[in-house]
Amino acid sequence: MTKSPEVVAFELGTFRFPDPELSHRQGVVMGYAIRHRGGIFLFDTGLGFGNEELDERYHPVARRIGDALAGAGIEIADVTAVANCHLHADHAGQNAAFPNVPIYVQATEWELAHTTDHTILEWIDFPAARYVRLTGDHEPFEGLRIVTTPGHTPGHQSLAVETDRGLILLAGQALYTVEEWVGEPDELEGRSSAPDREAYDRSTERLHAFAPARVHFGHDRRSWTRASA
Ligand SMILES: [Zn+2]
Ligand SMILES: [Zn+2]
Repeated sequence: MTKSPEVVAFELGTFRFPDPELSHRQGVVMGYAIRHRGGIFLFDTGLGFGNEELDERYHPVARRIGDALAGAGIEIADVTAVANCHLHADHAGQNAAFPNVPIYVQATEWELAHTTDHTILEWIDFPAARYVRLTGDHEPFEGLRIVTTPGHTPGHQSLAVETDRGLILLAGQALYTVEEWVGEPDELEGRSSAPDREAYDRSTERLHAFAPARVHFGHDRRSWTRASA
């Protein structure tokens, strides 16, 4: 019997929302590792360190990816592949911890990062970076699919993992919180600020169409689990 993949969640940092109306909420940045017989697949690397502009605006408290992984019982050297849901600085900030490891990203997202003020480029580009630029869905490990979910950014992607307990989705920032996923958006919803709201809605529909057993989010500590029948 082959062992079913397992999703491990860990916190990569917290931050303050610059919007005064959200000052009572705390921002959180999550990362996920999938233990798969193909190796450890990492989804998002969190915030980087030492960018004055970002520090001033968001007051981030970032956690080292190596520490976060160690806390989950995973050696950083055992990570065999990485994907970022998108290249904003809070999701790809520690990509440089993974030299010579394939990092899957949509080509449109990579293009945007290198032609516009999209992210903190020195956290993205580093010696021995091995970006694999995708143009659509991709299945790097058996039963582990990268699926395109544009809206928050044009090259946003999520992860669909088949397990013996059903399909687990790592939504990334395709949806911000559990509330948004269940159709009861609160003030942290991401739809109204999405640059492409139509794409955002299509991606939400796409994720629901997977009929997942569980969904994890890039900015929510909580996950959503389907009520068993
Ligand atoms: Zn973002
Ligand atoms: Zn984000």
